[in-house]
Amino acid sequence: MRILFLGTSAATSFPLAFCKCRVCEKARINKGKDIRKRSSVIINDALLIDFGPDVVTSSNMYNIDLTNIRYILQTHGHSDHFDAGHLITRLKEYAAQNVNPVCLAASKETVKSLDKRMKAEDPNVDLFDQDWQRRLNIDIKFMCSGDHLKMGDYSVTAIESLHDIFENSLIYIISHNNKSILYGTDLLKISEKAWEILKTFRLDLVILDHTYGKGFNNGGHLDASQVTDIISKMKIENIIHEKSVVYATHISHEGNDTHDVMEKIAAKNGYHIAYDGLEIEI
Ligand SMILES: [Zn+2]
Ligand SMILES: [Zn+2]
Ligand SMILES: [Zn+2]
Repeated sequence: MRILFLGTSAATSFPLAFCKCRVCEKARINKGKDIRKRSSVIINDALLIDFGPDVVTSSNMYNIDLTNIRYILQTHGHSDHFDAGHLITRLKEYAAQNVNPVCLAASKETVKSLDKRMKAEDPNVDLFDQDWQRRLNIDIKFMCSGDHLKMGDYSVTAIESLHDIFENSLIYIISHNNKSILYGTDLLKISEKAWEILKTFRLDLVILDHTYGKGFNNGGHLDASQVTDIISKMKIENIIHEKSVVYATHISHEGNDTHDVMEKIAAKNGYHIAYDGLEIEI
């Protein structure tokens, strides 16, 4: 599988629009890996995780043809992960031609949240209505934690993330050709139930929420220490092996640093820091 990071920042982007903290100021000078767009990844140019507000910009930057997307996994509906203004352009009213079918999977409550955001674009849209799904050429599948779904050659497993309990937010394991990836953002913590699901996998690539740096946690997400603890437990439980790689994403300026500083610290703790445009082949 080929995984491309379309974005690696938290909701706030990186640097923050109006922040003059040390890290944001450095990012403005460094540019490159220190400019982060909102988190999203694409697998084999066909399976997108989170149709966020920067996906169209990123795909143009990294030569991804979004018309080839066949599957979308939506972790939840927060504005940094879903852009209704882009999804609605699938309608023929936008003069979009030959729009390919897409299968979108999310929790039912997340679809409710997506629907609300779509209604802000067009109050008549109803993602739960078959006719609207046909007009958008989207087949919507509801998933709960522990559910498995076949999407073409991909096997998808949903796991609760507890990041937004009202949306039943999910993280996903994607398996293809005997390789498995965990896309684990946005993530509050790995619950006991979630560990039980994870223990049934041998993961080759793990991507984890790293919104906050060490000693800093404003809630809703993982911080650096939690990432390190999860990696240790994954090793003990044999969920990851010697050749597995772990990357941190969804990076905020809160307690974090510039990419190169973070990467040095992360490497000592057995993981790496993702950056926009990073491509991994497993
Ligand atoms: Zn987020
Ligand atoms: Zn800042
Ligand atoms: Zn979120």
